[in-house]
Amino acid sequence: MTDALYELTIHEIHDLLRSKQVSAREVAESFIRRIEEVDSRVRAFITTTPEHALKQAEAVDEVLSRGDLLANPLVGIPVAIKDNMCTRGILTTCASKILYNYKPIYDATVVERLNESRAILVGKTNLDEFAMGSSTENSGFFVTRNPWNLDTVPGGSSGGSAAAVAANECAFALGSDTGGSIRQPASFCGVVGMKPTYGRVSRYGLVAFASSLDQIGPITKDVTDCAIVLNAICGKDPRDSTSLDVPVPDFTQSLRADVKGLKIGVPKEFFGFGTDPEVEDAVRSAVDLLVELGAHAEETSMPSVEYGLAVYYIIAPAECSSNLARYDGVRYGLRVAPDSGTVTRQTREAKSSIVSMFEKTREQGFGAEVKQRIMIGTYALSAGYYDAYYLKAQKVRTLLRRDFDKAFEKFDVLITPTSPTVAFGIGERADDPYAMKLADICTIPANLAGIPGISVPCGFKEELPIGLQIMARGLDEETLIRVAFTYEQHTEHHRKRPPL
Ligand code: GLN
Repeated sequence: MTDALYELTIHEIHDLLRSKQVSAREVAESFIRRIEEVDSRVRAFITTTPEHALKQAEAVDEVLSRGDLLANPLVGIPVAIKDNMCTRGILTTCASKILYNYKPIYDATVVERLNESRAILVGKTNLDEFAMGSSTENSGFFVTRNPWNLDTVPGGSSGGSAAAVAANECAFALGSDTGGSIRQPASFCGVVGMKPTYGRVSRYGLVAFASSLDQIGPITKDVTDCAIVLNAICGKDPRDSTSLDVPVPDFTQSLRADVKGLKIGVPKEFFGFGTDPEVEDAVRSAVDLLVELGAHAEETSMPSVEYGLAVYYIIAPAECSSNLARYDGVRYGLRVAPDSGTVTRQTREAKSSIVSMFEKTREQGFGAEVKQRIMIGTYALSAGYYDAYYLKAQKVRTLLRRDFDKAFEKFDVLITPTSPTVAFGIGERADDPYAMKLADICTIPANLAGIPGISVPCGFKEELPIGLQIMARGLDEETLIRVAFTYEQHTEHHRKRPPL
């Protein structure tokens, strides 16, 4: 029994801990051994923290032996965290050479909340550098592999987190989603991933990429676990002014298999981007199943969705060009020595050598994708181009948001593929930026509108998972969970694990 602890979900492990059939230490050891066994092949982790995990587990066992916190569902549960969330004293690199040695002096709010819940940190996961990418191939360190087929990508940018959950290297993980980076890798790796409503979860201590889009969310093995993690991480945080001061429901109350009378919209535009016919079939069969269970489904149209990708690739780089200005070799991480001369008392020489230090640090610290985005963003924001690009993009963003408002006047949820295809081969799209970006064409609209979206497994194409995306009105994660849970209760896809 204890050998296979790493295969279990959060709620299954919790039951064993609660009834004292296992100790937190045994749970932690099981996952640590699993990481040792498979991570040389999957490469989900940038940093593993086995000693830290065992220490935390021992403390948990002590608390549990006193009979405390037994009802808290995350006590003693191993978690992996995307390496763009600050962990005090533990390397937080954003998979960038520019932060190769950065150890934050504080915890992100989500990390703090997981610590308070007594979850156990087993490591920090790989990502596309600064979360820019769709395959985790843009990591400044190494490529993560999809546990279902090691020659394919795990998706991105939270590819390390999704792969770690799929490979049973942690019971759950946190990812961040700016344009799809939780849902799309969850889809490629056959696990559940949710991007909550913008502002639901504090972003304090999440390294900023595009601040009007970024959101943290859970990656889990099933929908029940997703609700459990949401309960722990949602809520107002005075340290993040964009976090919403609204009541946080108990999301586990929405774990009810009931979709009677639910209105589903199926926007046709989401099937138009070269969607793989097998992906389309799987998604349409999922809708049919929900209809059999009592929901109503109708095709609908959201004309502005067509512009989502273009809008995103103005707004996200614009915001990133501002956010990434702080990496200059002075305050964080890498510092490359200036070209020639040393800093002298003569102001002019000192200045030129500082500028040279900035330049060399940024040149060597940032990867190609990050540099390209900083340049595009700077261009789009510059005088004379601002109106033509950034302002225009913001206007189209409003149109897109209105399309969603209109759709949600009629429907409770919208259902689409999470990504037009299943996982693609490593290297296959590396030289084709457009093909790469297409992987997020179905997920980006939810970020632009700020609404929640979830991806759940809905089938396979040649042993590679297919993801179903469900979107709901802002702050209506409860309906997402209910629909996803209903679907899960009537299918078996989420039970399959890769054959590592
Ligand atoms: N793939 C998209 C990008 O490259 C989205 C990334 C994300 O959500 N962090 O920007």
